[in-house]
Amino acid sequence: MKDKHWCGFWPYLSLEALPVLDFAQYIHRDVMPMPTLLAGAIHRIVAVAVAILTTAFMSAAHAQSIAFTFDDGPQLNQTPLLSPAARNQAMLAALKKHNVKGALFVTVNNGADRPEGLALAKAWGDAGHTVGNHTMTHPDFHNATYSLAQYQKELLDCDAVIRTLPGYRKWFRFTYLREGNTPEKRDGMRNFLKEEGYRNAYVSLDTSDWRLNIKLNEVLGKNVAADLAPIKRAYLDHVWQRAEAYRMLSQKLQGRDIPQVILLHHNLINALWLDDIIGMFKTKGWKITTPEIAFADPVYQLQPDRAAAGQSLLLSMARSLGLNKFEGWERLVDDGEFEIAALKAQGY
Ligand SMILES: [Zn+2]
Repeated sequence: MKDKHWCGFWPYLSLEALPVLDFAQYIHRDVMPMPTLLAGAIHRIVAVAVAILTTAFMSAAHAQSIAFTFDDGPQLNQTPLLSPAARNQAMLAALKKHNVKGALFVTVNNGADRPEGLALAKAWGDAGHTVGNHTMTHPDFHNATYSLAQYQKELLDCDAVIRTLPGYRKWFRFTYLREGNTPEKRDGMRNFLKEEGYRNAYVSLDTSDWRLNIKLNEVLGKNVAADLAPIKRAYLDHVWQRAEAYRMLSQKLQGRDIPQVILLHHNLINALWLDDIIGMFKTKGWKITTPEIAFADPVYQLQPDRAAAGQSLLLSMARSLGLNKFEGWERLVDDGEFEIAALKAQGY
């Protein structure tokens, strides 16, 4: 990625654009603080050594992997260009083309409460993807008036709909990635998931694809023949910015690349460009893995100790360590506003 528009926020993240030594210095400064005894020439020798190790690490064939997951599906809402069934099929075709096995997290009232919607969810299982639980109605568990019992019922009611589908697993994806606004609600769900044999299907690589999808639908709503190339570019740039940012956060927090679990949505933007998104990761040298293999990594057993838990697991870990406003945090929680502003500047 040669675009520099976000480098002001993430000066260390454009790995391709930076000399290796700069990256080594970043490791010194933020991951392995230099002891005061090491200075001058010794500093330089160590910096070069780290640079060499970093280069070897970065070029390792298995250095970074990613698993694809999709929330809020299947969607039966009408959009420009493609019918609900065609959107579903387009996403499945993109996954099949790249031989990717992912996961669909079902929000029942978006479509699976009707036979035609349930058939779309079944198609994911039939194609070898995992089908997981994303509640009935997508409530906000951080709403102060929303109870633990209500949220537990949402899980069980969704489970009753999806449990007979092929690919069904007891994987739960929290709505809005919000795990409870109080320690009581948070621990209540953690215990409930354990009792029910459910896994918290964490996200590590969070994106705002949904925000760019809103823009895409707005533009097409005004002109169905609009040139979509700038939106596609913005979408790919956005996902890559987040990928590099979360990769760096993983290295900062874990000292290694964890298998990333990306959150995308069952929507038009992925029906159109999931093929390009997967292709981008492959071109950048990332390996594609399955959510099951990713979740087997011990990092996904962590339960960050935060009063109001949630968000990307990596961001949650950072926050639980007191890293609230670390360098670049704005670009992990900005809801894609940077790309939206850039599109507006182009007349979109
Ligand atoms: Zn959702």
